[in-house]
Amino acid sequence: MDIQLSQTQIDLRDEVRAFIDARLPAELRKKMRLGHVPDRQEVVDWQRTLNEKGWAAPHWPKQYGGADLGIVERILVQEELYRAPAPQPLSMNVSMLGPVLLHFGTEALKQRWLPKLANLDVWFCQGFSEPGSGSDLASLRTAAVRDGDHYVVNGQKIWTTTAHWADWIFCLVRTSKESRKQDGISMLLIDLRSPGVVIRPIRSIDGHHHFNEVFFEDVRVPADNLIGEEGRGWDCTRFLLTHERALVAKIGFCYERLSRVREILDERGLRGSARVRIEDELNLLRAETRAMEMIQWRMVGLDPNDARAGDLASVLKIKGTEIQQRIAALLYRVEGTRAMTHKALADAPEAPTVGSYYHYVRAVTIYGGTNEIQRELLNRGMF
Ligand SMILES: Cc1cc2nc3c(=O)[nH]c(=O)nc-3n(C[C@H](O)[C@H](O)[C@H](O)COP(=O)(O)OP(=O)(O)OC[C@H]3O[C@@H](n4cnc5c(N)ncnc54)[C@H](O)[C@@H]3O)c2cc1C
Repeated sequence: MDIQLSQTQIDLRDEVRAFIDARLPAELRKKMRLGHVPDRQEVVDWQRTLNEKGWAAPHWPKQYGGADLGIVERILVQEELYRAPAPQPLSMNVSMLGPVLLHFGTEALKQRWLPKLANLDVWFCQGFSEPGSGSDLASLRTAAVRDGDHYVVNGQKIWTTTAHWADWIFCLVRTSKESRKQDGISMLLIDLRSPGVVIRPIRSIDGHHHFNEVFFEDVRVPADNLIGEEGRGWDCTRFLLTHERALVAKIGFCYERLSRVREILDERGLRGSARVRIEDELNLLRAETRAMEMIQWRMVGLDPNDARAGDLASVLKIKGTEIQQRIAALLYRVEGTRAMTHKALADAPEAPTVGSYYHYVRAVTIYGGTNEIQRELLNRGMF
């Protein structure tokens, strides 16, 4: 299945492309083309620029900071950003917490948070995983005990991406012990400046600081910061993870990285049979990315609670992340010995970063639910 865009959708795509060309700082575009990660301020500034048009969260209602557009338009904006390449709106804000608030939040919570999430006035991180509770997330132990109009939180999260840049965390906590471990879990919003919160960095294999450990010791959280009903946080979690998984395939990013491979081949003047072999691989990866793109369009219009949406999200997660790893390996090969210098050159704007990216991309088959778990989920759907 493919999608036939309407004239209005084609016009929107052209408008987004022209806007990016006019407003994306050239330095930032170049930095991303070379594979560098944008810094916090660059992400904030760019998201606010997009939000002037309601394109940070295009599919949200206007009253909450969106543009009242549909899911197709949302994907068109996302793909144009990848193509540029430009930073995506912060996924924790607009692709994880935002949809959960729209679906499960009270009117007060929606009004309080959604416009701020879209404009990146507040940076959220995701507090799900704990030591010993990753794939088996429902076994989490961070506890929240009700005390008057507050919860008192004790426990630890791990692998918390950008906690060191974040203002707040959306956090899964255990509010009661039930016979089924999925029950008794709740989702709380916690201000990271609260007394009793400690954030410690974890340095990853690419040499950068992406993740953290987050510790909570007697942290007092207003009970109003609960999303949905107490003890029903698992419903929010399943909903959120389906959203997260579907985005992990990064179709437009794969196309952009494949075009970068060809650019490097040209820069290096590679010709003859060596080039033909790489062009063959490029074409195969492009065809596989195109297949993922068609699956992404198939998901359009399916309710996230529909079992088929979950299955397609798992397929996108497995194949999309494997493709990203193969593209990273190809980039590494075509870059040649320059790829091996990343540690010495990582902070220089002109330095190739394919070496560090090659190492980082080991992570994509792990986050958002490991690929082994996705296979288990698909297997269950088959019989
Ligand atoms: C780059 C990155 C960013 C992340 N960011 C965040 C974040 O912001 N917030 C957050 O909360 N978490 C984050 N995570 C954590 C991520 O969600 C977990 O790493 C993931 O859920 C796996 O959990 P684990 O690391 O505890 O591994 P484990 O669950 O211990 O798994 C170890 C291995 O065993 C396999 N395995 C486990 N159970 C089964 C099974 N039943 N069947 C078959 N194989 C199985 C797994 O596939 C894996 O290969 C991030 C992880 C990465 C890599």
